[in-house]
Amino acid sequence: MRLSRFHLPLLKETPGDAQIASHRLMLRGGMIRQQAAGIYAWLPLGHRILKKIEQIVREEQNRAGAVEMLMPTIQPATLWHESGRYDAYGPEMLRITDRHDREMLYGPTNEEMITAIIRSGIKSYKALPQMLYHIQWKFRDEVRPRFGVMRGREFLMKDTYSFDVDAAGARKSYLKMFAAYLRTFGRMGLKAIPMRADTGPIGGDLSHEFIVLAETGESEVFVHKDLMDMSLPPADLDFDGDLEPLFEQWTSKYAATDEMHTPEEFEAIPEGERMNARGIEVGHIFYFGTKYSEPMNAYVEGPDGKSFIEMGSYGVGVSRLMGALIEAYHDEEGCKWPMAVAPFHVGLVNIKAGDADCDAASERLYAALEAQGVEVLYDETGDRAGEKFARMDLIGLPYILTIGPRGLKDGQVEVKSRATGEKENIPLDSVADVIAARV
Ligand code: ATP
Ligand code: MG
Ligand code: MG
Ligand code: MG
Repeated sequence: MRLSRFHLPLLKETPGDAQIASHRLMLRGGMIRQQAAGIYAWLPLGHRILKKIEQIVREEQNRAGAVEMLMPTIQPATLWHESGRYDAYGPEMLRITDRHDREMLYGPTNEEMITAIIRSGIKSYKALPQMLYHIQWKFRDEVRPRFGVMRGREFLMKDTYSFDVDAAGARKSYLKMFAAYLRTFGRMGLKAIPMRADTGPIGGDLSHEFIVLAETGESEVFVHKDLMDMSLPPADLDFDGDLEPLFEQWTSKYAATDEMHTPEEFEAIPEGERMNARGIEVGHIFYFGTKYSEPMNAYVEGPDGKSFIEMGSYGVGVSRLMGALIEAYHDEEGCKWPMAVAPFHVGLVNIKAGDADCDAASERLYAALEAQGVEVLYDETGDRAGEKFARMDLIGLPYILTIGPRGLKDGQVEVKSRATGEKENIPLDSVADVIAARV
């Protein structure tokens, strides 16, 4: 992508109402623009990052055996009357009336709709288990939308729903999602720790919030330090195998948000091994049994008669993750995107645009990189060198390749790692191969 053709409106001034780094950098770096409180337009740079995050979430869902679909954002209120949640949900639900005076709403979540879909689509227990997911915009009329996309009103969520014949099956589905979430956040470079969460009236131990530690997080958390160094499940994990040992390994150490905190239990851990910190909820998995299937009459016929479907739901805050990632990866100058979610793999800076040799070398390298599948943001503008470097540091692409008259004399390209600040010179002829091997 040529920078001159890309829409990248940067802000010089830090917007006054942006209190945390990720919000500031997303505005300054031309990733988002607010349209109303908690409602954002995703500009091209932000959109690319959002899509990268979404794709990792998707791949790990697919790996775990969940099947993608898409439900609408607007739902009829009738579904929510069936479950009894229409009145219970309260003012966080955006309610809409259509021209025929029908009550509609902008979905804050999809348990009711998916239950209705499964109810009409499945009759026999032999069709179960199933796991379905979609990645769709949600709306919650938060009292205090803040911190940019972290607590938006309109936000992108991945939500999966599992359907099983019995509780033992539902537990297996739950464990699949548990493992998938560890991999999902890990692939993005985030340490998200599963913490016990409130299960409500059903009880049991099957609700976890996945929390990324960050000073600016809204939740207070209490964790055993060992959880910071746990290894993630491998890509070839057998999701149909026994996931209990993995679950046990991750849940035997103390980890709870303030809502679920039991001080006595926490304080029994040696002082040097416990941590009291803040964190961001990036995912939440929940087994809720027949909470929706019963009132909505979603059942299967089995050998022993009819039974209500056992369900669970599993959410990931896709758009919130972008904020969480910046909180984890930035410095004074700007973002430092991990390769896996970077909007482009590299920035290519021609510091002397207009110079015939620099132009020719830059164009050649740009083409060579693209030919190898490297995603390049190519700064071929006539802006000052200082401005070009500051811009690259702000948007935070993993590598910045610089072509200038001095390096070119020796046939060299300067390659800077945004993460470490380290610079190296690589011959122009081989730099595309070297970089392609690193992305
Ligand atoms: P929170 O405690 O932050 O309000 P929640 O517990 O209400 O979140 P869930 O219903 O568990 O949210 O939804 C699943 C995921 O969706 C959350 O883990 C979070 O990552 C994301 N999410 C929820 N609300 C928002 C929001 N207002 N803006 C952005 N992401 C959100
Ligand atoms: Mg909430
Ligand atoms: Mg929550
Ligand atoms: Mg939650």
